[in-house]
Amino acid sequence: MAKTQKYSWGQGELYEMLCLMMIGYCIWVFGTKFGFFDYFFYFAIRHDLLNLVMLSGCIGLGAVAATIRKSFLLRKAMRGRAAAEMRTESIARHDALTGLANRRFFLELFDGMTKAHQPGDRLAVMVIDLDRFKPVNDVHGHAAGNAVICAVADRLRQIVPSRGVVARLGGDEFAAVVPYGEGPDTLIVLAEQIIAAIRAPIHWNHNRIHVDATIGIAPVTLDNNEAEGLLHAADLAMYEGKRDGRGTFRIFAAEMGAALKARAELESDLRLGIARGEFVPFFQPVVRLPSEDLVGFEALARWNHPTKGLIAPDQFIPVAEQTGMIGDLFYSLLHQACMSAQNWPPHLLLSVNVAPQQLQDPRLPQRVLAILTETGFAPSRLETEITETAIINDLQAARSALMSLQNIGVKIALDDFGTGYSSLYHLRELRFNKLKIDRSYVTTLMQGSEGAKLVDAIIQLGASLGMETTAEGIETVSNLDWLSRQGCTFGQGYLFGRPMPKDVTERFLENAQIAKLEQPGRANAG
Ligand code: C2E
Ligand code: CA
Ligand code: CA
Repeated sequence: MAKTQKYSWGQGELYEMLCLMMIGYCIWVFGTKFGFFDYFFYFAIRHDLLNLVMLSGCIGLGAVAATIRKSFLLRKAMRGRAAAEMRTESIARHDALTGLANRRFFLELFDGMTKAHQPGDRLAVMVIDLDRFKPVNDVHGHAAGNAVICAVADRLRQIVPSRGVVARLGGDEFAAVVPYGEGPDTLIVLAEQIIAAIRAPIHWNHNRIHVDATIGIAPVTLDNNEAEGLLHAADLAMYEGKRDGRGTFRIFAAEMGAALKARAELESDLRLGIARGEFVPFFQPVVRLPSEDLVGFEALARWNHPTKGLIAPDQFIPVAEQTGMIGDLFYSLLHQACMSAQNWPPHLLLSVNVAPQQLQDPRLPQRVLAILTETGFAPSRLETEITETAIINDLQAARSALMSLQNIGVKIALDDFGTGYSSLYHLRELRFNKLKIDRSYVTTLMQGSEGAKLVDAIIQLGASLGMETTAEGIETVSNLDWLSRQGCTFGQGYLFGRPMPKDVTERFLENAQIAKLEQPGRANAG
């Protein structure tokens, strides 16, 4: 800003002209006072030099005009250079897409704010990270992604108090420094306002795009008052928020550091584990009701950890989903499961679990088909299980992924039915082949008639929409009998077999074969 004043229009030129006029005036005073002009005039007349004098005067005037013009041009060039310098400086300090401060400028501004800080004034750093932004780019393209980033930037500009600072740190991550004189409640209200504003739909090219935001907040304290340290602390708090379910905010607390270190270790272990092939599918039998004939297996992931032993999926699937590693994990498991299932009797089906995030990857159907082709496993023998979250998050993406999968002959089951928010509309719209009734309903079946009524309603609903139903978590004969009587198509649970590794599954199949020969019509493995 200071540089524009230095070269403001015409000031320099005016000053220069005044100096030149003063010099001219002094010459005139000297010339008249000491009679130099008279002497010069008579000399010129006597020697007939008047024309020569006039010529020199005109040339002199021309030279003065040329000098003044040159001076103008020079100043114009200087002003241009100063403006270009300012533009470069501004580009280096601002984000090109949104015009917000960039990370470097954010750090400078933060330092400025802490120096000008008044006693009693409190400051906090917020890191605002968008949720579900990647699918926007994947589904609608980069132009839509840019429009979303700009809309979010505008909303942040409006909400963050004028004494604060908003910056874009990169990608879908923003930061803000906010003064909060009246206590931590103001911070909470502000964070909630930001989340609500970002959650409001963004209109782009006749589409309504929805994103969410998770916020980490680090208040400036005596021992944490450096910008980088505060950004790191706010980042830790933000990750904690993401882990707890996104679309929320967390205020930094010291113990978050340790939890996040453990989490970072798990993430890098997971990455290495996938590369080293430590993840294997276990297979749990699925039987037809009431005959209990084996119809297939569900593949469930297990981590064969080199030092920690066998790890259950609830320990790593959520992390794999949040870090985007779920795709690689899925393809590795699918490949192994198809290879194993190739050795089973050809009428047996294989079910695999597909995480919600995977439906937003437009390459999913082609990659599934590539694995089926590579392993020679018939698509009609494969069933993918998706949860209700997948369709709630992005119905459009879910619809196109599921339709492509069904077009290649793969069946789709809606997993954990009853735990999410899917509506009749979703069920009709997405044409699932099967509903899997969640274990929580089956285990409470005998405890109260309410659970039983619900399961009965789900079975009837499935039948009326032309869908088969599988009851999960059958552990008792009484549950089995009740479900069979209600017309549930398939059953799965410890009563028929636990998830088991590939070789145990093969032995299980051999035993089932023997049992069937000995007792035709039953394939119950117990
Ligand atoms: P799910 O898909 O609903 O799988 C059924 C879970 O219930 C399995 O737990 C299974 O071992 C357990 N189960 C089956 N029958 C019984 C029973 O009679 N009693 C009891 N108490 N439990 C029973 P698991 O293998 O620990 O898997 C848990 C969840 O992890 C799965 O739930 C699924 O949501 C997820 N998961 C597992 N493997 C994968 C995978 O490869 N990809 C994805 N995206 N998710 C997976
Ligand atoms: Ca499942
Ligand atoms: Ca399930």
